[in-house]
Amino acid sequence: MSSRPVIAIAGLATESSTFSPGRTTAEDFHAQRGHEVVDSCAFLAEGQPLREAAEWHGALRGKALPGGAVPRADYERLADELTARLAELPPLDGLYFDIHGAMSVEGLDDVEADLLRRIRAVIGARPIVSTSMDLHGNVSRELAHQTDLITCYRLAPHEDAEETRERAVRNLIEHLASGRPRPFKAWVPIPVLLPGEKTSTRLEPAASVYARVAEVEARPGVLDAAIWVGYAWADEPRNRAVAMVTGTDEAAVAQAAQELAAGFWAARDRFAFVAPADTLDGALDRALASAARPFVISDSGDNPTAGGSGDMSWGLTRLLARPEFRSDDSPVVIYASVPGAAAVATAVEAGVGATVAVTAGAEVDFAHAGPVTLTGVVHSIRHGDRDAETEVVVRVGSVFAILTRRRKPYHHEHDFTDLDLAPRDAAVVIVKIGYLEPELFDLAADWILALTPGGVDQDLVRLGHRRIRRPMFPFDADGGEPDLSARFIPASTEPLDGIDE
Ligand SMILES: [Zn+2]
Repeated sequence: MSSRPVIAIAGLATESSTFSPGRTTAEDFHAQRGHEVVDSCAFLAEGQPLREAAEWHGALRGKALPGGAVPRADYERLADELTARLAELPPLDGLYFDIHGAMSVEGLDDVEADLLRRIRAVIGARPIVSTSMDLHGNVSRELAHQTDLITCYRLAPHEDAEETRERAVRNLIEHLASGRPRPFKAWVPIPVLLPGEKTSTRLEPAASVYARVAEVEARPGVLDAAIWVGYAWADEPRNRAVAMVTGTDEAAVAQAAQELAAGFWAARDRFAFVAPADTLDGALDRALASAARPFVISDSGDNPTAGGSGDMSWGLTRLLARPEFRSDDSPVVIYASVPGAAAVATAVEAGVGATVAVTAGAEVDFAHAGPVTLTGVVHSIRHGDRDAETEVVVRVGSVFAILTRRRKPYHHEHDFTDLDLAPRDAAVVIVKIGYLEPELFDLAADWILALTPGGVDQDLVRLGHRRIRRPMFPFDADGGEPDLSARFIPASTEPLDGIDE
């Protein structure tokens, strides 16, 4: 290519639990438009080689906290604006499609493939599309068809998120510069659906399964390789694990995809929870009996970063019912968190040091517990958080409960210290989270996964999936040996015929 290629960036990223009653609205995506999209990519900063390698155009990119499904009208609004912005751009050589891959929209299956189909209708068949995803996203045959290059994270927790996005962009630039025909795409669906809490790449068997990705990618003729665990808390036919490899050598691509799929399938029985697991009361008993401080407990069923509403009061209600934390000098427990706009307003009005009686939670998700009432002292108040907007801490006995105006994940030590809390000095820290994000992992002297109810219940089989493909491990104990041979997906410029398997 004689002059610099013209490349656009677009995408919508979230993961949606169809078992959560919450809804993710258009505003929740904090959409970036035009230049903002390009400027927010660190690897496209002024002076970076990738920045100079192309003429960049941002269309629209949005990223929402995981949550419930997106209402159809909200999706239509975002998709319409995204495609309208693409239509205004000069003819494109490439598109970087920046998605998560587990968004659900009410009344629509396989949303990311739908979005890319709409994008193709505007930009045409010619541009090369490179897609980057979360490894908890789903790759349907249709999505694999619409894109030309595709990859996902190789680490969970996702410490390689930026590196993955940069790789997807670099692959796109290199492909455009090569002048080669579209890459071969080998796709292998794997009939396994597991929660992320059983597939952390910090531990075996996922560590070894994922170590193979870089190995096969290094082979001649292979451009990129990836394994998707898939998303366990949505109920669509596409939800399952997938291995996919792209490259210039047809045989090498097929061989690599089959090896990755076979490795994942062979490990299926060995995926186990990343920490000891118990009920919440069992977890509290173990924490109280332990000398490890702080003892961190994941209240996993309502994890907002997996798609839980984050608004359940069940965990805090159970905690406050325990007699061990009733007096001020009992072992300190920090609980993060329950949303409650009215409770936060009351606490802010009363001020730090005041005693308040407030009610929070269960505005969206009341299947397992109603709102929780706390009578306690306002310990701290903080304004200005991107997600929570306003946060308050109310102390009840030795429990420091964080209440928020809007839901917020608590992943960093400063999320606590900003609220005048000292998680390292606490006896117990309970967080609505699954596997611990790195800072909490480092902070925890010991850790347990509480298998609590909610929209992202870790006990998948009791959730009641009805539309996933069967047989599926672990839903069907003996589904027989699946066909893990590589399926070549036609180039995006060719029709996709044959059966959707
Ligand atoms: Zn993920």
